[in-house]
Amino acid sequence: MIQAPAQQIPGVYHRRIGDIVVSAISDGYLDGSMEVLRGISVEEGTKMLADVFRPARRTSVNTFAIFSAGRVAVIDAGSGTYMGPTAGWQIRNLRAAGIDPAAIDTVLLTHMHPDHSAGLADRETGARFFPNAELVAHENEPRHWLDDAAMARATEREKLLYFQCAREQIAPYRDRTRLITGGEVFPGVTAVPAPGHTPGHTMYLIQSGGESLLVWGDITHVPDIQIPRPEVTIAFDTDPAGAIASRRRVLDMAATEKFLVAGMHLHFPAFSRIARRGDGYALVSESWVHQF
Ligand SMILES: [Zn+2]
Repeated sequence: MIQAPAQQIPGVYHRRIGDIVVSAISDGYLDGSMEVLRGISVEEGTKMLADVFRPARRTSVNTFAIFSAGRVAVIDAGSGTYMGPTAGWQIRNLRAAGIDPAAIDTVLLTHMHPDHSAGLADRETGARFFPNAELVAHENEPRHWLDDAAMARATEREKLLYFQCAREQIAPYRDRTRLITGGEVFPGVTAVPAPGHTPGHTMYLIQSGGESLLVWGDITHVPDIQIPRPEVTIAFDTDPAGAIASRRRVLDMAATEKFLVAGMHLHFPAFSRIARRGDGYALVSESWVHQF
């Protein structure tokens, strides 16, 4: 009796950038409503997705492992148990890729939102999922999420899912956190601030042997809408005007310089380029690299 496959293979994909190997590690996906988009109607946004055969707003949640100079880092820690059963798969997929979380010496955060930093530590026990890792984040992230006055101004949902979650998740790394403002943060990896979505939202530029990859974090949340229409924002932006400015700057740079980009919410495995198209841009996913 032939058994057909019943499960997808693990969400892991490798790509070489010069001497550095970058592995896209899926954390899963999130299904979200269109109501959270700003600067576009639900009807128009739904039509834009339908036009490219996306029945709904299904968002990939991606993380990346970086092998450089004999060390391994991850960019972001995924969702842990905060975002429901369709996300929080990073550790499982790291193991499927043969990567022991205890071998990871650096966790680079793009920002402190639950789909990026809620997978740092066990919610019940506080045990670090990356027991030997140093935590690296832009200094404006904890400054904002630890600010009681900012928390007091937030909605109940934001208080719990953003401020409280960030506080819980970074606490176990208190004695091993390195706050940065930019510059080289891991061999071949440079932090590039792109504030707006959050105050310390940071991209990571990976460069080696004349090749480069920009892991742009949350420059877009709904790529099929925000790449053609960069002025569309999402309710989770702390500074929507700043988010638009960062998105326009990065899309312009990527289209001009034609470098490879990857993002936490680009369709897995996320490696893509940006082309100019009319007043906006188009996402061009890279085809499968057979030999990395
Ligand atoms: Zn996100």
